[in-house]
Amino acid sequence: MEDTIAAIATPPGEGGIGIIRISGENAQNVLTKIFVPANPSGIENRKMSYGTIVDPSSGQVIDEVLSVYMKGPKTYTVEDVVEINCHGGMVPLRRTLELVLKYGARMAEPGEFTKRAFLNGRLDLSQAEAVIDVIKAKTDKTFDVAMNQLEGNFSKKIKEIRKKLVDILVNITVNIDYPDEDIEEITYDTLEKDLISVNDDIRKLLTSADTGRIIQEGLNVAIIGKPNVGKSSLMNSLLNEARAIVTEIPGTTRDTIEEHLSIKGIPVRLTDTAGIRETDDMIEQIGIEKSKESFNQADLVIFIIDSSRELGQEDREIVELIDQKKAIVVLNKVDLEPVVSREAIEKMLPEASLIETSMERQQGIDLLEEKIVEMVYGGKVSQSDRIMVTNVRHKNILETAERAICDAIEMTKKKEALEFIEIDVNSSYENLGEIIGETVQDDIINEVFARFCLGK
Ligand code: GDP
Repeated sequence: MEDTIAAIATPPGEGGIGIIRISGENAQNVLTKIFVPANPSGIENRKMSYGTIVDPSSGQVIDEVLSVYMKGPKTYTVEDVVEINCHGGMVPLRRTLELVLKYGARMAEPGEFTKRAFLNGRLDLSQAEAVIDVIKAKTDKTFDVAMNQLEGNFSKKIKEIRKKLVDILVNITVNIDYPDEDIEEITYDTLEKDLISVNDDIRKLLTSADTGRIIQEGLNVAIIGKPNVGKSSLMNSLLNEARAIVTEIPGTTRDTIEEHLSIKGIPVRLTDTAGIRETDDMIEQIGIEKSKESFNQADLVIFIIDSSRELGQEDREIVELIDQKKAIVVLNKVDLEPVVSREAIEKMLPEASLIETSMERQQGIDLLEEKIVEMVYGGKVSQSDRIMVTNVRHKNILETAERAICDAIEMTKKKEALEFIEIDVNSSYENLGEIIGETVQDDIINEVFARFCLGK
Protein backbone atom coordinates (compact mmCIF):
# COMPACT_ATOMS: atom_id res chain seq x y z
CA MET A 1 0.00 0.00 0.00
CA GLU A 2 1.24 3.49 -0.87
CA ASP A 3 1.72 5.94 1.98
CA THR A 4 -0.90 8.58 2.49
CA ILE A 5 0.76 11.93 1.84
CA ALA A 6 -0.07 15.46 2.93
CA ALA A 7 1.17 19.00 2.37
CA ILE A 8 0.11 22.61 2.45
CA ALA A 9 -0.97 23.23 -1.14
CA THR A 10 -1.21 27.03 -1.04
CA PRO A 11 1.82 29.36 -1.05
CA PRO A 12 3.37 30.37 2.28
CA GLY A 13 2.28 33.67 3.75
CA GLU A 14 -1.05 35.17 4.70
CA GLY A 15 -4.17 34.78 2.59
CA GLY A 16 -7.91 34.38 2.70
CA ILE A 17 -7.65 30.63 2.89
CA GLY A 18 -4.88 28.05 2.99
CA ILE A 19 -5.42 24.52 1.76
CA ILE A 20 -4.03 21.27 3.10
CA ARG A 21 -4.17 18.44 0.67
CA ILE A 22 -4.08 14.76 1.62
CA SER A 23 -3.88 11.85 -0.82
CA GLY A 24 -3.95 8.11 -0.32
CA GLU A 25 -6.00 5.31 1.21
CA ASN A 26 -5.91 6.85 4.67
CA ALA A 27 -7.11 10.27 3.59
CA GLN A 28 -10.70 9.88 4.72
CA ASN A 29 -9.65 8.17 7.91
CA VAL A 30 -7.32 11.02 8.85
CA LEU A 31 -10.08 13.54 8.24
CA THR A 32 -12.56 11.61 10.37
CA LYS A 33 -10.14 11.67 13.29
CA ILE A 34 -9.44 15.40 13.36
CA PHE A 35 -12.49 17.03 11.77
CA VAL A 36 -15.78 17.60 13.54
CA PRO A 37 -18.45 18.47 10.97
CA ALA A 38 -21.24 20.84 11.96
CA ASN A 39 -23.71 18.86 9.89
CA PRO A 40 -24.83 15.70 11.74
CA SER A 41 -24.86 13.67 8.51
CA GLY A 42 -21.05 13.82 8.61
CA ILE A 43 -18.50 13.63 5.80
CA GLU A 44 -19.96 12.83 2.38
CA ASN A 45 -18.10 12.09 -0.85
CA ARG A 46 -17.48 15.26 -2.89
CA LYS A 47 -19.47 17.49 -0.57
CA MET A 48 -17.86 20.47 1.05
CA SER A 49 -18.56 20.36 4.76
CA TYR A 50 -18.18 23.03 7.37
CA GLY A 51 -16.79 22.25 10.82
CA THR A 52 -13.79 22.45 13.11
CA ILE A 53 -10.39 20.83 13.30
CA VAL A 54 -10.07 19.44 16.81
CA ASP A 55 -6.97 17.91 18.38
CA PRO A 56 -8.27 14.46 19.49
CA SER A 57 -5.77 14.21 22.36
CA SER A 58 -6.72 17.49 24.05
CA GLY A 59 -10.10 18.37 22.56
CA GLN A 60 -8.69 21.78 21.62
CA VAL A 61 -10.25 23.49 18.62
CA ILE A 62 -7.46 24.32 16.14
CA ASP A 63 -9.35 26.03 13.33
CA GLU A 64 -12.70 26.57 11.71
CA VAL A 65 -12.59 24.98 8.25
CA LEU A 66 -14.33 23.71 5.16
CA SER A 67 -13.25 20.27 4.13
CA VAL A 68 -13.97 17.94 1.28
CA TYR A 69 -13.37 14.26 0.74
CA MET A 70 -13.09 13.05 -2.86
CA LYS A 71 -13.12 9.32 -3.39
CA GLY A 72 -10.78 8.08 -6.10
CA PRO A 73 -10.22 7.32 -8.92
CA LYS A 74 -11.61 10.54 -10.41
CA THR A 75 -9.27 12.82 -8.47
CA TYR A 76 -6.03 14.68 -9.14
CA THR A 77 -3.89 11.75 -7.98
CA VAL A 78 -6.41 8.99 -8.85
CA GLU A 79 -6.29 8.14 -5.13
CA ASP A 80 -8.69 9.24 -2.39
CA VAL A 81 -8.08 12.93 -1.79
CA VAL A 82 -9.00 15.26 1.07
CA GLU A 83 -8.69 19.02 1.03
CA ILE A 84 -9.05 21.12 4.15
CA ASN A 85 -9.60 24.85 3.69
CA CYS A 86 -8.14 26.51 6.76
CA HIS A 87 -7.76 30.16 7.59
CA GLY A 88 -4.90 31.36 5.43
CA GLY A 89 -2.26 31.92 8.09
CA MET A 90 0.88 29.99 8.96
CA VAL A 91 -0.29 28.92 12.45
CA PRO A 92 -3.67 27.31 11.59
CA LEU A 93 -2.09 25.61 8.59
CA ARG A 94 0.94 24.36 10.47
CA ARG A 95 -1.11 23.09 13.40
CA THR A 96 -3.66 21.35 11.19
CA LEU A 97 -0.88 19.77 9.14
CA GLU A 98 0.78 18.55 12.33
CA LEU A 99 -2.43 16.74 13.27
CA VAL A 100 -2.79 15.29 9.78
CA LEU A 101 0.75 13.94 10.00
CA LYS A 102 0.19 12.61 13.51
CA TYR A 103 -2.98 10.75 12.52
CA GLY A 104 -1.88 8.76 9.54
CA ALA A 105 -0.26 10.75 6.74
CA ARG A 106 3.36 11.55 5.98
CA MET A 107 4.77 14.76 4.57
CA ALA A 108 4.65 14.78 0.74
CA GLU A 109 7.76 15.41 -1.30
CA PRO A 110 7.78 18.27 -3.84
CA GLY A 111 5.68 17.25 -6.82
CA GLU A 112 4.58 13.99 -5.21
CA PHE A 113 0.85 14.54 -5.85
CA THR A 114 1.49 15.07 -9.55
CA LYS A 115 3.97 12.18 -9.57
CA ARG A 116 1.17 9.94 -8.32
CA ALA A 117 -1.13 11.25 -11.05
CA PHE A 118 1.59 10.16 -13.49
CA LEU A 119 2.35 6.80 -11.85
CA ASN A 120 -1.37 6.05 -11.66
CA GLY A 121 -1.72 6.77 -15.37
CA ARG A 122 -3.89 9.89 -15.29
CA LEU A 123 -1.19 12.09 -16.84
CA ASP A 124 1.71 11.06 -19.03
CA LEU A 125 5.13 12.49 -18.27
CA SER A 126 4.98 15.42 -20.67
CA GLN A 127 1.57 16.36 -19.29
CA ALA A 128 2.93 16.21 -15.76
CA GLU A 129 5.79 18.48 -16.84
CA ALA A 130 3.21 20.87 -18.24
CA VAL A 131 1.61 21.20 -14.79
CA ILE A 132 4.67 23.00 -13.50
CA ASP A 133 4.84 25.14 -16.65
CA VAL A 134 1.20 26.16 -16.19
CA ILE A 135 1.89 27.19 -12.61
CA LYS A 136 5.05 29.10 -13.50
CA ALA A 137 3.75 30.79 -16.66
CA LYS A 138 4.17 34.56 -16.48
CA THR A 139 2.49 35.54 -19.74
CA ASP A 140 -0.63 34.50 -21.64
CA LYS A 141 1.27 32.84 -24.47
CA THR A 142 3.45 30.79 -22.11
CA PHE A 143 0.31 29.73 -20.28
CA ASP A 144 -1.57 28.80 -23.48
CA VAL A 145 1.24 26.59 -24.75
CA ALA A 146 1.62 24.89 -21.36
CA MET A 147 -2.15 24.31 -21.08
CA ASN A 148 -2.14 22.80 -24.54
CA GLN A 149 0.59 20.40 -23.46
CA LEU A 150 -1.29 19.60 -20.25
CA GLU A 151 -4.38 18.78 -22.30
CA GLY A 152 -2.27 16.17 -24.05
CA ASN A 153 -1.96 17.58 -27.55
CA PHE A 154 1.83 17.38 -27.57
CA SER A 155 1.69 13.79 -26.29
CA LYS A 156 -0.86 12.98 -28.97
CA LYS A 157 1.59 14.13 -31.63
CA ILE A 158 4.35 12.00 -30.11
CA LYS A 159 2.03 9.01 -29.97
CA GLU A 160 1.13 9.50 -33.65
CA ILE A 161 4.81 9.45 -34.60
CA ARG A 162 5.38 6.35 -32.48
CA LYS A 163 2.42 4.65 -34.17
CA LYS A 164 4.07 5.28 -37.55
CA LEU A 165 7.27 3.77 -36.20
CA VAL A 166 5.40 0.68 -34.97
CA ASP A 167 3.91 0.21 -38.43
CA ILE A 168 7.38 0.47 -39.94
CA LEU A 169 8.72 -2.04 -37.43
CA VAL A 170 5.91 -4.48 -38.26
CA ASN A 171 6.70 -4.25 -41.97
CA ILE A 172 10.36 -4.84 -41.35
CA THR A 173 9.70 -7.82 -39.10
CA VAL A 174 7.38 -9.44 -41.60
CA ASN A 175 10.09 -9.16 -44.23
CA ILE A 176 12.79 -10.48 -41.97
CA ASP A 177 10.62 -13.43 -40.98
CA TYR A 178 9.26 -14.17 -44.44
CA PRO A 179 11.87 -12.94 -46.88
CA ASP A 180 10.68 -12.84 -50.45
CA GLU A 181 12.88 -11.61 -53.25
CA ASP A 182 9.98 -10.06 -55.18
CA ILE A 183 8.71 -7.82 -52.49
CA GLU A 184 12.13 -6.80 -51.21
CA GLU A 185 12.39 -3.96 -53.70
CA ILE A 186 8.99 -2.58 -52.67
CA THR A 187 9.91 -2.91 -49.04
CA TYR A 188 12.93 -0.63 -49.33
CA ASP A 189 10.94 1.91 -51.33
CA THR A 190 8.02 2.14 -48.93
CA LEU A 191 10.40 1.99 -46.01
CA GLU A 192 12.27 5.02 -47.25
CA LYS A 193 9.03 6.97 -47.79
CA ASP A 194 7.71 6.05 -44.36
CA LEU A 195 10.96 6.96 -42.64
CA ILE A 196 11.10 10.31 -44.41
CA SER A 197 7.56 11.03 -43.29
CA VAL A 198 8.52 10.32 -39.67
CA ASN A 199 11.61 12.45 -40.06
CA ASP A 200 9.48 15.34 -41.34
CA ASP A 201 7.21 15.07 -38.33
CA ILE A 202 10.14 15.20 -35.92
CA ARG A 203 11.79 18.07 -37.83
CA LYS A 204 8.57 20.05 -37.70
CA LEU A 205 8.46 19.71 -33.95
CA LEU A 206 12.14 20.63 -33.66
CA THR A 207 11.70 23.80 -35.72
CA SER A 208 9.26 25.00 -33.09
CA ALA A 209 11.88 24.53 -30.37
CA ASP A 210 13.56 27.93 -30.79
CA THR A 211 10.26 29.73 -30.49
CA GLY A 212 9.27 27.30 -27.76
CA ARG A 213 12.35 28.14 -25.72
CA ILE A 214 11.63 31.84 -25.99
CA ILE A 215 8.01 31.33 -24.99
CA GLN A 216 9.15 29.29 -22.02
CA GLU A 217 12.20 31.26 -20.90
CA GLY A 218 11.65 34.67 -22.44
CA LEU A 219 13.29 36.63 -25.25
CA ASN A 220 16.52 38.42 -24.32
CA VAL A 221 16.44 41.86 -25.85
CA ALA A 222 19.28 44.37 -25.49
CA ILE A 223 18.67 48.01 -26.27
CA ILE A 224 21.84 49.61 -27.51
CA GLY A 225 22.72 53.10 -28.74
CA LYS A 226 24.88 56.06 -27.88
CA PRO A 227 23.83 58.30 -24.99
CA ASN A 228 20.70 60.41 -25.33
CA VAL A 229 19.19 58.65 -28.33
CA GLY A 230 16.15 57.57 -26.33
CA LYS A 231 17.00 54.16 -24.84
CA SER A 232 15.40 54.84 -21.47
CA SER A 233 12.44 56.50 -23.16
CA LEU A 234 11.88 53.40 -25.27
CA MET A 235 12.19 51.17 -22.28
CA ASN A 236 9.65 53.30 -20.47
CA SER A 237 7.28 53.30 -23.40
CA LEU A 238 7.44 49.54 -23.58
CA LEU A 239 6.93 49.26 -19.89
CA ASN A 240 4.30 51.94 -19.94
CA GLU A 241 5.62 53.40 -16.78
CA ALA A 242 8.42 55.76 -15.87
CA ARG A 243 10.86 53.33 -14.32
CA ALA A 244 14.28 54.14 -15.79
CA ILE A 245 15.36 57.72 -15.18
CA VAL A 246 15.12 59.84 -18.30
CA THR A 247 17.69 62.66 -18.37
CA GLU A 248 19.37 64.99 -20.81
CA ILE A 249 22.93 64.50 -19.55
CA PRO A 250 24.80 61.96 -21.70
CA GLY A 251 26.03 58.86 -19.93
CA THR A 252 23.78 59.00 -16.89
CA THR A 253 22.23 55.61 -17.50
CA ARG A 254 25.26 54.04 -15.93
CA ASP A 255 24.28 50.53 -15.12
CA THR A 256 22.33 48.10 -17.19
CA ILE A 257 18.70 48.14 -16.24
CA GLU A 258 16.80 44.96 -16.69
CA GLU A 259 13.06 44.70 -16.94
CA HIS A 260 10.71 41.79 -17.46
CA LEU A 261 7.65 42.45 -19.51
CA SER A 262 5.16 40.79 -21.79
CA ILE A 263 4.96 41.84 -25.42
CA LYS A 264 1.79 40.45 -26.95
CA GLY A 265 1.96 37.49 -24.58
CA ILE A 266 5.64 36.74 -25.13
CA PRO A 267 7.86 37.06 -22.08
CA VAL A 268 10.67 39.51 -22.74
CA ARG A 269 13.75 40.38 -20.71
CA LEU A 270 14.73 43.86 -21.76
CA THR A 271 18.12 45.31 -20.95
CA ASP A 272 18.84 48.99 -21.31
CA THR A 273 22.57 49.33 -21.84
CA ALA A 274 24.86 52.18 -20.89
CA GLY A 275 26.33 52.40 -24.35
CA ILE A 276 29.68 51.04 -25.37
CA ARG A 277 31.66 54.26 -25.45
CA GLU A 278 35.26 54.21 -24.15
CA THR A 279 35.52 56.20 -20.95
CA ASP A 280 37.86 56.97 -18.04
CA ASP A 281 35.02 56.97 -15.56
CA MET A 282 35.32 53.78 -13.52
CA ILE A 283 31.64 53.37 -12.76
CA GLU A 284 30.70 54.07 -16.33
CA GLN A 285 33.29 51.54 -17.45
CA ILE A 286 31.59 48.84 -15.37
CA GLY A 287 28.30 49.72 -17.01
CA ILE A 288 29.93 49.43 -20.40
CA GLU A 289 31.29 45.96 -19.61
CA LYS A 290 27.80 44.91 -18.54
CA SER A 291 26.36 46.36 -21.72
CA LYS A 292 28.72 44.28 -23.81
CA GLU A 293 27.79 41.20 -21.83
CA SER A 294 24.04 41.65 -22.23
CA PHE A 295 24.64 42.50 -25.86
CA ASN A 296 26.44 39.19 -26.38
CA GLN A 297 23.69 37.21 -24.68
CA ALA A 298 20.84 38.91 -26.50
CA ASP A 299 18.52 36.99 -28.84
CA LEU A 300 17.61 40.31 -30.37
CA VAL A 301 19.28 43.71 -30.37
CA ILE A 302 17.39 46.96 -30.68
CA PHE A 303 19.79 49.59 -31.97
CA ILE A 304 18.49 53.11 -31.46
CA ILE A 305 19.67 55.97 -33.61
CA ASP A 306 18.83 59.63 -33.04
CA SER A 307 17.59 60.87 -36.42
CA SER A 308 18.21 64.49 -35.41
CA ARG A 309 21.98 64.07 -34.92
CA GLU A 310 24.76 63.09 -37.28
CA LEU A 311 25.90 59.47 -37.02
CA GLY A 312 29.07 59.26 -34.97
CA GLN A 313 31.96 56.93 -34.32
CA GLU A 314 30.01 55.15 -31.64
CA ASP A 315 27.14 54.39 -34.01
CA ARG A 316 29.63 52.88 -36.43
CA GLU A 317 31.16 50.74 -33.69
CA ILE A 318 27.71 49.41 -32.85
CA VAL A 319 27.04 48.68 -36.52
CA GLU A 320 30.11 46.46 -36.56
CA LEU A 321 29.02 44.64 -33.42
CA ILE A 322 25.53 44.08 -34.75
CA ASP A 323 26.72 42.38 -37.90
CA GLN A 324 26.16 38.84 -36.57
CA LYS A 325 23.03 39.59 -34.56
CA LYS A 326 19.32 39.63 -35.16
CA ALA A 327 18.65 43.34 -35.00
CA ILE A 328 15.97 45.95 -35.27
CA VAL A 329 17.13 49.49 -35.95
CA VAL A 330 14.96 52.14 -34.37
CA LEU A 331 15.30 55.56 -35.94
CA ASN A 332 14.06 57.73 -33.10
CA LYS A 333 13.11 61.38 -32.70
CA VAL A 334 11.47 61.61 -36.12
CA ASP A 335 9.45 64.48 -34.69
CA LEU A 336 12.61 66.63 -34.94
CA GLU A 337 14.36 68.04 -38.02
CA PRO A 338 15.90 64.95 -39.77
CA VAL A 339 19.66 64.69 -40.17
CA VAL A 340 20.01 60.93 -40.64
CA SER A 341 18.05 59.41 -43.51
CA ARG A 342 16.41 56.01 -43.73
CA GLU A 343 18.49 55.25 -46.81
CA ALA A 344 21.77 55.92 -44.99
CA ILE A 345 20.87 53.30 -42.39
CA GLU A 346 19.60 50.79 -44.93
CA LYS A 347 22.92 51.09 -46.69
CA MET A 348 24.82 50.54 -43.44
CA LEU A 349 22.71 47.64 -42.17
CA PRO A 350 20.92 46.05 -45.12
CA GLU A 351 19.85 42.96 -43.12
CA ALA A 352 18.21 44.70 -40.19
CA SER A 353 14.59 45.80 -39.94
CA LEU A 354 14.12 49.52 -39.64
CA ILE A 355 11.41 51.26 -37.69
CA GLU A 356 10.88 54.98 -37.28
CA THR A 357 9.71 56.19 -33.91
CA SER A 358 9.09 59.22 -31.82
CA MET A 359 9.13 58.46 -28.15
CA GLU A 360 8.12 62.03 -27.57
CA ARG A 361 4.86 61.48 -29.47
CA GLN A 362 4.59 57.78 -28.65
CA GLN A 363 4.69 56.88 -32.34
CA GLY A 364 5.97 53.65 -33.86
CA ILE A 365 6.01 51.66 -30.64
CA ASP A 366 3.18 49.35 -31.74
CA LEU A 367 5.06 48.66 -34.95
CA LEU A 368 8.19 47.86 -32.99
CA GLU A 369 6.26 45.42 -30.80
CA GLU A 370 4.84 43.70 -33.86
CA LYS A 371 8.32 43.41 -35.34
CA ILE A 372 9.65 41.82 -32.15
CA VAL A 373 6.85 39.23 -32.17
CA GLU A 374 7.44 38.53 -35.85
CA MET A 375 11.08 37.81 -35.10
CA VAL A 376 10.16 35.39 -32.31
CA TYR A 377 8.06 33.34 -34.68
CA GLY A 378 10.70 33.75 -37.38
CA GLY A 379 8.03 33.24 -40.03
CA LYS A 380 8.21 29.53 -39.27
CA VAL A 381 5.50 28.90 -36.76
CA SER A 382 2.13 30.55 -36.90
CA GLN A 383 0.82 32.20 -33.80
CA SER A 384 -2.09 29.83 -33.61
CA ASP A 385 0.14 26.76 -33.67
CA ARG A 386 0.08 25.72 -30.07
CA ILE A 387 1.95 22.43 -30.34
CA MET A 388 5.45 23.49 -29.55
CA VAL A 389 8.58 22.02 -28.02
CA THR A 390 9.21 24.18 -24.96
CA ASN A 391 11.07 21.69 -22.83
CA VAL A 392 14.81 21.05 -23.20
CA ARG A 393 14.41 17.41 -22.20
CA HIS A 394 11.93 16.88 -25.03
CA LYS A 395 14.14 18.73 -27.49
CA ASN A 396 17.16 16.54 -26.68
CA ILE A 397 15.12 13.37 -27.06
CA LEU A 398 13.69 14.52 -30.39
CA GLU A 399 17.19 15.27 -31.65
CA THR A 400 18.40 11.80 -30.67
CA ALA A 401 15.39 10.20 -32.35
CA GLU A 402 15.95 12.28 -35.45
CA ARG A 403 19.57 11.13 -35.72
CA ALA A 404 18.51 7.49 -35.53
CA ILE A 405 15.87 8.00 -38.22
CA CYS A 406 18.40 9.74 -40.47
CA ASP A 407 20.76 6.80 -40.07
CA ALA A 408 17.93 4.43 -40.91
CA ILE A 409 17.13 6.44 -44.05
CA GLU A 410 20.76 6.31 -45.15
CA MET A 411 20.88 2.54 -44.68
CA THR A 412 17.59 2.10 -46.51
CA LYS A 413 18.97 4.02 -49.47
CA LYS A 414 21.95 1.66 -49.53
CA LYS A 415 19.61 -1.32 -49.15
CA GLU A 416 21.48 -2.56 -46.12
CA ALA A 417 20.18 -5.50 -44.11
CA LEU A 418 16.75 -4.86 -42.61
CA GLU A 419 17.99 -6.13 -39.25
CA PHE A 420 20.32 -3.13 -38.98
CA ILE A 421 17.66 -0.65 -39.99
CA GLU A 422 15.31 -2.16 -37.48
CA ILE A 423 17.73 -1.35 -34.67
CA ASP A 424 17.65 2.38 -35.42
CA VAL A 425 13.91 2.52 -35.95
CA ASN A 426 13.41 0.71 -32.70
CA SER A 427 15.72 2.98 -30.79
CA SER A 428 13.94 6.11 -31.99
CA TYR A 429 10.65 4.50 -30.97
CA GLU A 430 12.10 3.93 -27.51
CA ASN A 431 13.52 7.47 -27.39
CA LEU A 432 10.17 9.07 -28.14
CA GLY A 433 8.64 6.95 -25.41
CA GLU A 434 10.81 8.82 -22.92
CA ILE A 435 8.95 12.04 -23.69
CA ILE A 436 5.62 10.66 -22.57
CA GLY A 437 7.21 8.52 -19.87
CA GLU A 438 6.53 5.13 -21.32
CA THR A 439 10.12 3.98 -21.57
CA VAL A 440 11.68 6.25 -19.03
CA GLN A 441 14.14 5.54 -16.21
CA ASP A 442 13.26 6.23 -12.59
CA ASP A 443 16.02 8.79 -12.11
CA ILE A 444 14.64 10.91 -14.94
CA ILE A 445 11.17 10.74 -13.43
CA ASN A 446 12.60 11.84 -10.09
CA GLU A 447 14.46 14.70 -11.76
CA VAL A 448 11.28 15.89 -13.46
CA PHE A 449 9.27 15.99 -10.25
CA ALA A 450 12.06 17.55 -8.20
CA ARG A 451 11.33 20.80 -10.09
CA PHE A 452 7.88 20.99 -8.53
CA CYS A 453 6.80 22.95 -5.50
CA LEU A 454 5.64 21.37 -2.30
CA GLY A 455 1.97 20.49 -2.28
CA LYS A 456 1.67 20.04 -6.04
P1 GDP B 1 19.20 57.46 -23.43
O1 GDP B 1 20.37 58.19 -22.90
O2 GDP B 1 19.51 56.81 -24.73
O3 GDP B 1 18.57 56.52 -22.45
O4 GDP B 1 18.09 58.58 -23.82
P2 GDP B 1 16.84 59.06 -22.98
O5 GDP B 1 15.72 58.12 -23.13
O6 GDP B 1 17.30 59.43 -21.59
O7 GDP B 1 16.47 60.37 -23.81
C1 GDP B 1 17.34 61.47 -23.93
C2 GDP B 1 16.55 62.73 -24.21
O8 GDP B 1 15.94 62.66 -25.49
C3 GDP B 1 15.44 62.99 -23.21
O9 GDP B 1 15.40 64.36 -22.95
C4 GDP B 1 14.19 62.52 -23.95
O10 GDP B 1 13.06 63.23 -23.52
C5 GDP B 1 14.54 62.90 -25.37
N1 GDP B 1 13.83 62.06 -26.36
C6 GDP B 1 13.73 60.71 -26.37
N2 GDP B 1 13.01 60.32 -27.44
C7 GDP B 1 12.65 61.41 -28.11
C8 GDP B 1 11.91 61.65 -29.33
O11 GDP B 1 11.41 60.74 -30.01
N3 GDP B 1 11.75 62.92 -29.71
C9 GDP B 1 12.28 63.98 -29.01
N4 GDP B 1 12.07 65.19 -29.47
N5 GDP B 1 12.98 63.79 -27.89
C10 GDP B 1 13.17 62.54 -27.44
